[in-house]
Amino acid sequence: MKKFILYLLMTLPAGMWLGSCSEDALNSESILKETARVENELDRWLFNNYMLPYNVRVIYRMEDIESNMSYNLVPAEYDKSIQVAKLVHFAGLEAFDEVTGSHDFIHDNFPKIFLFIGSGAVRNDGSEILGAAEGGEKMIFYRVNFFEQQNNVVVGLVFHEFGHILDARKPRPREFDEISGSGYVGDVYDTRYPNQSDALKAGFLTPYAASSPAEDFTITWGEYFTRTAESWEALLASAGTGRATIEAKFAIINTYMRDEWNLDTDQLRAVVLRRENEAKYLDLTTLD
Ligand SMILES: [Zn+2]
Repeated sequence: MKKFILYLLMTLPAGMWLGSCSEDALNSESILKETARVENELDRWLFNNYMLPYNVRVIYRMEDIESNMSYNLVPAEYDKSIQVAKLVHFAGLEAFDEVTGSHDFIHDNFPKIFLFIGSGAVRNDGSEILGAAEGGEKMIFYRVNFFEQQNNVVVGLVFHEFGHILDARKPRPREFDEISGSGYVGDVYDTRYPNQSDALKAGFLTPYAASSPAEDFTITWGEYFTRTAESWEALLASAGTGRATIEAKFAIINTYMRDEWNLDTDQLRAVVLRRENEAKYLDLTTLD
């Protein structure tokens, strides 16, 4: 049976990225291979909508990606790349612009490289990685070819990975980790908490959240943006004995986002949910 790992924080040695984190180094041959090609309509759209306002380079061509990963990866399809790029731009990046009043937050904090991969990354145990954040400077988005406009799922994944980036830049309060303390179980999260209901009762939104404080932190933050107030309340109500634990952790996240990043989580969620809904009526298949 195939199991999906929704999110993974890939921990490269910090020095590896910090030591080469100037703009030039990030675009060096060690990371990306430049090949001669004709610029197409998507390239121009990405330049105008990601690079110019945010200084974010979206890479969807497989030949651009140094494939030293231990996975068999399939390239992102052109049409699917358009859909994902437009949805993330509209419901994700522009939501931050709307609440902060400028492009600056995303320009200054979103990873400079955003990779699209067509397939998931299948691990030896059969689990599949859907997203990854590396060292604060690169976000990888897998399974682009399976995109079917589940807007809140796609946006939730971006928020989750972005949460890892923010956490890497300004570490979450240690008090967060202490709330569930010895409840974190690493790789055996799905044997310890086989179902979501088991995780909820123990104060985790999902079994994977019990793998580590870092995942718990970003899963809790990311999940918030996929749910209305009613849906969030229903989730907490179903947690029973775990509710107080989840609420205590979310309170820390709220304060951290306000104090460290000047973000109002509720205001941002309202904008994101509205945009996720509006995106249903966007034509994501063309670049007009
Ligand atoms: Zn993660």
